[in-house]
Amino acid sequence: MPTVLIVEDERKLRELLRGYLERDGITVLSAGTGAEGLSLASTASPDLMVLDLGLPDIPGETVAREVRSSSRVPIIILTAKAEESDRIHGLELGADDYVTKPFSPRELVLRVRAVLRRNDSGPLDDRPVSLGGGMLTIDESRQEATVDGRKLDLTPTEWGILLALSANPGRVYSRLELINRVRGYEFEGYERSIDSHIKNLRRKIEREPHDPRIVLTVLGGGYRLGLSRDG
Ligand code: CA
Repeated sequence: MPTVLIVEDERKLRELLRGYLERDGITVLSAGTGAEGLSLASTASPDLMVLDLGLPDIPGETVAREVRSSSRVPIIILTAKAEESDRIHGLELGADDYVTKPFSPRELVLRVRAVLRRNDSGPLDDRPVSLGGGMLTIDESRQEATVDGRKLDLTPTEWGILLALSANPGRVYSRLELINRVRGYEFEGYERSIDSHIKNLRRKIEREPHDPRIVLTVLGGGYRLGLSRDG
């Protein structure tokens, strides 16, 4: 049974969401302040976090950054701000989804379910992961990847991109999301510079870099892995 942490200072909304999520078979933890949210996020290891940006003590943005610095837990941001720039800002914070108030609780439950499903495969563990019928293997503990049995010589950024894409094969990652995911690998630069890293990565892993089969471009969307996991 998945556990969702709600960090929201409006008690009524918090309880309403709790009711909806619990009826959907989800265990709910809730916090009314950012500090309480941070403490629960680290002690209770929830499977997903619903985070309001307007909190009384710590800005939700700070809470998101803090959580992201040590955890990959999916975050759905709640906000009263509807501007596009805020939406992008939310994704820059490493949020997985973004819901603008007012919203229907039913819609939020659907979003929670969707994000949980997307992250169901979980983070890569110590065992090497095999994809595309053994075409690609990724060994996170050794920081090694192979294509057609050939060991790849990747830069930390290329490795970070490959790791992010293969964590959820088929899922589309926007450029901003990829930047977020590889930040731990000292990614430098702007959104578009991810494209040049992708280009270099393709040169190393694709049989035909001009006709990529592994790292696919999604028009208007970003990138996704074209292979699925074996087994
Ligand atoms: Ca609030």
